[in-house]
Order: sequence, then structure tokens, then C-alpha cells
Amino acid sequence: MNNQQTLDPINTGIYPEPTMEEPEFDELQEWVYDSLCEATDGCTVEPDGVCPHGHPSWLLHFGLI
Ligand SMILES: [Zn+2]
Repeated sequence: MNNQQTLDPINTGIYPEPTMEEPEFDELQEWVYDSLCEATDGCTVEPDGVCPHGHPSWLLHFGLI
């Protein structure tokens, strides 16, 4: 793991940067059906939710919800 900050135009200044690898598209689809989603730090949140650490769901991160 490296701790270097990289600027990501998608979430600059709004949410912390993801600490997990980006999920595959079919994973995103499963989360929509399950009404549960993984946050960008690996927590489980609602699809439109933010985890206690301030990380949004991947669906929010990608602007899909
Ligand atoms: Zn979290």
C-alpha cells in the first residue's frame, strides 16, 4: 500500500479517496439488487449511504445513484 495522495477529479474535495480497488460493473449491479453496497473503504453501506468513516458507496462514488 502506498499513502501517496493522487488527485481524482471524481471525488476531489467531497469524499475521502477510495482505499479499495474499484469493483467490477457486475458487482455494482448485484449491490443495486441487494440494496447493500460496499463503500470505497470496504465497509457495507446502503447503496446511497456513506460509512462511518466518511466513505461513500461505490454507487455514489460513480454517480450511479
Ligand atoms: Zn468505513
